[in-house]
Formats: sequence, C-alpha cells, structure tokens
Amino acid sequence: MATNITWHPNLSHSERSDLLKQKGLTIWLTGLSASGKSTIACALEQFLLNKQINSYRLDGDNVRFGLNKDLGFSEADRNENIRRISEVSKLFNDSCCIAITSFISPYKQDRQLARELHEKDNLPFIEVYIDVPIEVAEKRDPKGLYKKAREGIIKEFTGISAPYEAPENAEIHIVNDDITVEQAAQQIIDYLVEKKFI
Ligand code: ADP
Repeated sequence: MATNITWHPNLSHSERSDLLKQKGLTIWLTGLSASGKSTIACALEQFLLNKQINSYRLDGDNVRFGLNKDLGFSEADRNENIRRISEVSKLFNDSCCIAITSFISPYKQDRQLARELHEKDNLPFIEVYIDVPIEVAEKRDPKGLYKKAREGIIKEFTGISAPYEAPENAEIHIVNDDITVEQAAQQIIDYLVEKKFI
C-alpha cells in the first residue's frame, strides 16, 4: 500500500457527462470460454460507435498481452486480473465512455467486487450472463482450448478443471445458443434503451 499519496479531485462525473452529453456505463459480460462474450461485445461496440456513442471493449485475452501480462490463471491471479479490469473499466466509465468487458470472470466474489468498486462511486454497472451449456462451448472450441484442457495440457480450465460460478442476479441473461449474435447484442441494446442509458 503506497503512502504519501493524495487524491487529486477531477471534474465531477455529472459535469463531465453534461459536457460530453453521454453517460458512462460498465457492461460486464461473464460466461464460459467460447460462450460468445467477445463476439457479442464486438457487435455491441460497433452498434454503439455507429450511433456516435463512445464505447470501448476490454477483452480477456487482449489485456493479458499488456496490463496483465504478469498474471496467470491460478485463483489468486484470476482475482487480481478481475480487480485490475474493474479499476480500468471504472476509469472508462468515469470518463463517460461505455466500457464493455468480456472476461470469463468465473468467481462470484470477483464480479461482486467489480460491482461494488463501481457502485461505491455511483458508477453504473450491469452484469450480463452469456449462458451456453458447456457442451455447446466445447463443441465450438474455436481456439482448441477445451481439447487441450481435456488432454490435461491446459490446467485450471474453467468448466473442465476450474469452477464457473454462474450469476444468479445478472441484469441481463442471454442464452446464446440457437440465436444469432445480432439477436444476442439486441437483448443488451433493448435493455440500455429501456433503462435510458442510451
Ligand atoms: P468467448 O469470448 O466467450 O470466449 P467468442 O466470442 O470467442 O467466445 O465466441 C466463441 C465462438 O462462438 C466463436 O467462434 C463465435 O463465432 C461463436 N459464437 C458466438 N456467438 C454465437 C451464436 N450466437 N451462435 C453461434 N456461434 C456463436
């Protein structure tokens, strides 16, 4: 814990939001590997950008190339991964951008922490559960990860050798099986419109 540091106040969130004419938001996608998080996040980001709504996607693999390149997949590292992403998505949210995160984020406690970090600063946070049966995810397996996990080449793989704790009270629950990517993204868009986020 650093000492001798002092918080320097920013422009207030409401002042920033009035000037930019946009509200910040974090849309937190969670689900098994290959459930469709990144694909849906991309479709949603494109939709928002086409409407001139500033949006930025934070992606599971991508942040591990940079910000979180020092972290692996043990429970402690997964916790730290999610904690850092939460802080980064908060910054985007506070800047009045719509942050869309697509991380497996398998532990309820971590997602709860992400929510609390946002809500304690009055930054809106919505959780979206991208739900597919593991058999569907395993059949898709675009990166061959399930196969490697079954062979024991990848250890601590969510759904195979590490737990996935499904959300019980996510704001949006998308069963991403037998629907198109566009239909899945539309479910989120409908919610954003209904709640007047956009
Ligand atoms: P994740 O980010 O959750 O690991 P991806 O977005 O990479 O998952 O999607 C995994 C695979 O599933 C990709 O090949 C993607 O094209 C496919 N996919 C995603 N959504 C659907 C859908 N609704 N129907 C069929 N295939 C889908």
